[in-house]
This record gives sequence, structure tokens and C-alpha cells, in this order.
Amino acid sequence: MAGVYISYPFCAQKCSYCNFASGVFPKDLEPVYQKRLVDEIRSTEWKFTPETLYLGGGTPSLWNLGELEAVLGALPGGPWREATMEAAPGSLTAERVKAWRRLGINRVSLGVQSFVEREIRRTGRKHTAAIVASDVALLRAHGIESINLDLISGLAEQTRESWEESLDCVLRLEVPHVSVYILEVDEDSRLGAEVLLNGQRYGARDIPSEDQQADFYERAVERLAEAGIARYEISNFSRPGAESLHNLKYWKLEPYLGFGADAHSFDGKWRWQNVEDVKDYALGGVPQQRILADIENEKYWVGLRLSEGIRPGDRFEQEITNLVQDGLLEWHGDRIRLTSRGVLVSNDVFQEFLG
Ligand code: SF4
Repeated sequence: MAGVYISYPFCAQKCSYCNFASGVFPKDLEPVYQKRLVDEIRSTEWKFTPETLYLGGGTPSLWNLGELEAVLGALPGGPWREATMEAAPGSLTAERVKAWRRLGINRVSLGVQSFVEREIRRTGRKHTAAIVASDVALLRAHGIESINLDLISGLAEQTRESWEESLDCVLRLEVPHVSVYILEVDEDSRLGAEVLLNGQRYGARDIPSEDQQADFYERAVERLAEAGIARYEISNFSRPGAESLHNLKYWKLEPYLGFGADAHSFDGKWRWQNVEDVKDYALGGVPQQRILADIENEKYWVGLRLSEGIRPGDRFEQEITNLVQDGLLEWHGDRIRLTSRGVLVSNDVFQEFLG
């Protein structure tokens, strides 16, 4: 079954580590974006009725409720089996959560990143651990139990102790799903660019070493597993049955349609991507050319992200043998999967299948 993704790239601030096509834009761009979004959804020839919905891209939890309703009303089908709202801690109100429920939202992903105030402030975010706890309580009070909390390993001033504190807070909240990312250093985020330039803004000199970041990640794997929250994808952990149905579609190569700036789509055969620039999109920028997907190949670098691994075909026999010998892949019955060491260097592993 297929999914639908909608990008709302507007944020209250641009976080230092963020490499999405999101940000703070002029207020008058929003109605133009909104109209384009509804037009794009309405003009789509739907070959399927989506069973999952994901609202992301920026801070959709700030979306004006009337406009959000108009966008969701343009979609075929619903109610969805799973409908996720990405939310910034501190942006939830009883009115909003009640309306989300009414519109069919049944899962919320809170972009917490850290529970430690000095780390949060360095990213440009404004929440506290108490705000996250009250957001979780508010969601539960309105019947939304399916909650994800995001954490990032590698933030400025993060230490072994502060990482344990964030993990303590996550576990205390007893949510069914957690995502743990390792900081991405690239030119698309202000922090990443500063690190690459060897500068000092945004705490670029205070981020933990790559080894420490990997240690923090492994500690999260261990502590979450002890609490019954198992890794099912490199960055995603859940209690049994609480996996994200929408995100699983990406890794299982199932179709999804994306709407909004920078949204990606895959119809089971073709892949395409909308223009990245928010203004260009709002003003009618057309998507990039479609690319025919090579599903047999893609499963080696998309499907292998899953802990269950993949059943290999008859390609890459030599690469698989080498990676197994190097301790980065292992056989599990007739499937191959990343080892714990392979997970930490997964991009290098995937590279072997791209050449
Ligand atoms: S991390 Fe989230 S809230 Fe911050 S700028 Fe990126 S999309 Fe917006």
C-alpha cells in the first residue's frame, strides 16, 4: 500500500544543524505556497489511495488549522492507517492537538534532539525537558499515544553525561518510538558548513569527536534495547508493533507521492523530486525529470538500512562476500544484514553497491 508525504517547510527559526530545505520565510509566501500545494494535490492523477500520511519538511505543527484542513481535504481517501505530524516541542496547544485528532492525525513525532538546555540553546531551539514532558502528556490526554522522540548524537557541548541525561528523559517518558541520528556534517547546514571551514560559530569547535558520536549512538542502541525499544532501521527504534508504517515504505521500496518543496516521489517505477527552493516551488517550479528506478539495485542501499536486512538476488556476490569477511555484513538465514560495526559505517557499505 502507498503513502503520501506533504512538506510544510516553514519554521520559527533555522536550527544550526538542519540541512533541510526549510527555514524562516516571509509571511506572505505562505498563502502562495498553500495554494500551490492544494493545486498540486488536486491535479495529481491518483493511482492509489494512500494508507499513510506524513507531514514534515519543516514545522507543520505550526500550520494554520484551516489551511491544514484544506490541504488534507484535497487528498483522496482517509482516514489513514497512520498519519504523522512532525512537531517542534513547545508548538503544541490543546486546540491544535484536538484539531489534529479530528483531521485524522494519530501519530506525532517531536523533534526534541536533546533534553539538555545548553545543547538545545546552541542549536537555536527554545524548548526545555519540562516542555517536552508536557507536550507528551497533552498528546496522550487527547488520545495520541503513538509518539516519536528524535535525538541527535553530536550536538555542540554534548558529553557522555549529558547524553545519558537525554536518554534518561526519553526512557522516563515511555514513548513507543525513538529516532537517533548522528549529526550530519555537510554544507547544507550552518553548523556543518562551519565545521567544514574549521570555524567556531554555532559551537562548531565543541561538537564531540566522531568516535564519541558513535559511542553515544551505540549507548542509545543498548539502553533503548534494555527498555524493549529495538532498532529496526539504522536511526529508528520502536516497541514491537510501533514501527513507523510510513517510513517503512521508503525502506521497503513501496510507492509514495510527495507534495511541496523538495518532496520526493516514487510510484513503484519512477522517482522524481520537486524543486527544492520554497519560493520557486510556490511560484510554480516544475519537478525534476523522472528517473527510472532500478529496484533490484536500490534494495542493497535502501533495504539494507533495515535490521531485518534483505534477501539478495544474484547481483553483487563478490561485494557481499568481501563485506561479510570484513565483518560489516552478516548472513541471517537467507538474508544479509548490517552487523553492529556495519551500521556505524553504513554509508561506506552502501557505496560498495553503487559503483
Ligand atoms: S530542524 Fe526542524 S524546526 Fe529546525 S529548521 Fe530544520 S525543519 Fe525547522
